[in-house]
Amino acid sequence: MRWPGETVKLWWCSECNSPLLDSLCCKCGGYGFRLGLADPGDARPAFSYDLDVLRKALELESGFNIFDKLISYNSFILLNKLMYIDDMKEVFVNGVKLGNLFYNPVENRWRFRFSYIGALKALELGFSRVLNVDWMVKRGVSIDASRFSNGDQVIIVFNGEPIAIAYVGRNGKARVLNVFRSKRGDYNTSSRNTSLDDVYKCNSNYIYRLESRACKHIYVLWEKFRKPIVVSYSGGKDSLVSLHLTVSTVGGVQVLFNDTGIELPETVSNVYRVTDSMGLSLVVASAGDAFWRSFSVFGPPGRDYRWCCKICKLIPAARTALKHWPNEALNIIGQRSFESIERSRSPPVWRNEWIPNLICTSPINRWSSLAVWLYIHSRRLDVNKLYFKGFDRIGCFLCPTSRLSEFRNVEETYPELWSRWRSLLVSWAYRIGYGMEWVDLGLWRWLTNTSPKIRIA
Ligand SMILES: [Zn+2]
Repeated sequence: MRWPGETVKLWWCSECNSPLLDSLCCKCGGYGFRLGLADPGDARPAFSYDLDVLRKALELESGFNIFDKLISYNSFILLNKLMYIDDMKEVFVNGVKLGNLFYNPVENRWRFRFSYIGALKALELGFSRVLNVDWMVKRGVSIDASRFSNGDQVIIVFNGEPIAIAYVGRNGKARVLNVFRSKRGDYNTSSRNTSLDDVYKCNSNYIYRLESRACKHIYVLWEKFRKPIVVSYSGGKDSLVSLHLTVSTVGGVQVLFNDTGIELPETVSNVYRVTDSMGLSLVVASAGDAFWRSFSVFGPPGRDYRWCCKICKLIPAARTALKHWPNEALNIIGQRSFESIERSRSPPVWRNEWIPNLICTSPINRWSSLAVWLYIHSRRLDVNKLYFKGFDRIGCFLCPTSRLSEFRNVEETYPELWSRWRSLLVSWAYRIGYGMEWVDLGLWRWLTNTSPKIRIA
């Protein structure tokens, strides 16, 4: 599916070896080259957890520690999410895409698929799962690969150059999956070590402009509507930035937290800690145990069966808004248009039909994920620690829109919480006569037989 709205544009400064939010680097004064990100291009920095995942995946693909030679822990790495059946991210190192890191739900592990440049570099470093051919292969053809193991990724080489990626099947044949079309060479970057501090220095003017624009947006609406301001804070990075911008523009505000009852403990404690440290008054719209009570009636929620949002979010929020702001309020939230197709279509000011007494706006609607991270880092904001444990987004831990890789993170970080949820799923599967793959492959995330469900099954 094509991304319908505006996309993020990023550049790379060869001299500073840093991504840029604008074509001009404000540290060295040079111009960067455009990064070829897949839409919408909302790339974020890789954290040490991500680098560990990447290191293991690369080791699995190559059979040796190729990570330390190919990448290093001191490189600044960008991860750009792709549309895929589970989690898949483009990996940019030193301004070039080395390949895609992706979670294979059937193998239940992370893998890495080389791009053309990634394959070129891997071959230089002694990657040995190689098949030499003397003809140009096409996607879908099979080549004898009996010396490799089932599931191995092999690089197909023609005239000494990588031309395609293939995967070995159970029959000992490698099937070509990806033929390299673009064979653009490497960029000559300084490959110096780059920290988040350095990246901020290269982008500080741009961040300053974004910040000024956002504060002006808040101030103008505040003047226009002359209503009390309430900032929605979910414990996530985007609403943290919106909260900080609002407080620095208008001073003390009320904070609204929608506690769905299925938040992760770290998220709840972050909300209390942040509002407390900023001296703000917190209003909690709590769903209590509504989710668990409703489960016994409705069963698990699905992407095509989102009863959870109404019961855990909209009803408590509407009730709380009516009680606290019967004469309307200006509701500052932290959504960004690059997050989802639905959000890319959101107008600058709107009202939710369920909560009409809140006038909603997002001052960071056009901020990219990288801008958000640079702002958080430079202002030393107390961001939710779950982002550094592999969580890409913060919210209900069993949300049916989650990917299996995210569920695995929940299971690793909060095993007791996950096992409670899993045992409920198992008992529901038993009740309706489904097998364990309905639980473990996450097929419960769809009520009806939609195409992604069929593909995973
Ligand atoms: Zn520079």
